[in-house]
Amino acid sequence: MAAQQKAQWMGVHIMAPRAEDVPLLNRAIEQTLAPLGVNVLILEVNYSFEYRSHPELRASTVLSKADIRDILATCRKHRIRLIPQFNCLGHQSWAKTTFPLLVKYPEFDETPQIPLDNPDIYCRSWCPLHPKVNDVVFALMDELIDAFEADAFHVGMDEVFLIASDQCPRCRGKNPADLFAKAVNDYHQHLAKKRRLTMLMWGDRLLDDSVMGYGKWEASQNGTAPAVEMIPKDIVICDWHYELRDEYPSVPFFQQKGFRVLPSSWRNVQAALALRDYARKNATEKMIGHLCTTWSSGSDIARALLDVPKASDSAKQAVQALKAVISQD
Ligand SMILES: [Zn+2]
Repeated sequence: MAAQQKAQWMGVHIMAPRAEDVPLLNRAIEQTLAPLGVNVLILEVNYSFEYRSHPELRASTVLSKADIRDILATCRKHRIRLIPQFNCLGHQSWAKTTFPLLVKYPEFDETPQIPLDNPDIYCRSWCPLHPKVNDVVFALMDELIDAFEADAFHVGMDEVFLIASDQCPRCRGKNPADLFAKAVNDYHQHLAKKRRLTMLMWGDRLLDDSVMGYGKWEASQNGTAPAVEMIPKDIVICDWHYELRDEYPSVPFFQQKGFRVLPSSWRNVQAALALRDYARKNATEKMIGHLCTTWSSGSDIARALLDVPKASDSAKQAVQALKAVISQD
């Protein structure tokens, strides 16, 4: 295998596994991801960590620092760069469940009038202008950086629909792009300038849908796109597109703006290959590789990778797509 010679990032994104499945995930890394040539593993942790600075923000199931060290040791043995992710600003709830930050600190909520079981919304957001929110969030980031011994950090920031809400006394009437850019710049200040890490984020809120034509999920219809001109160029943009299209205009767009780009695919094999091939045709020195998202937990994806029982169909499809993207060179 030529994995060690590849300068390009060959990344896989997974959600946190259950603690008891860490050995299974390690086996999947060792027996499947490493031999395939994967050299970047992004582990989206969010609240599933045994935080000590803010134990009140731990999810109901968590990974310990020792669990992370186990995964890290396996990754290092196989020269895989392990990158933590904490989803910032948006995605602070899912369906009827509001995540710990906005349950424990309701004053950080951008839409405090919406009941905590989230009727009629996609996901809650925290308020980027609350003067105390970054103190809490940066403490969590610092714990993850320490546990992962990280040199890069993914801040998420996709699909932020609730921003500049009339319900927020600080953000009401303000420009969504200014607010979004402020949040990006705050996290960059902490992660890149202070902690000297490479910062990654999803790209959708930086794309103007009226230009890109991707729709309201993969691009912005809510006024955040001008933020692309207001943020540092050393951020790695994970430009995710999961549908089959003839063209993916954001791939050259982000490179022309000066960002490093990691095109990001999911479980549709045809779409994943189309994105990969379009990105290759439109690659400059800013094109740094490819990221396969799975939108599955580390437990589920490990089962699918190892072909053991109880993997979900979605995880199996994601594994099929990532194998296609990586192996059909
Ligand atoms: Zn606000």
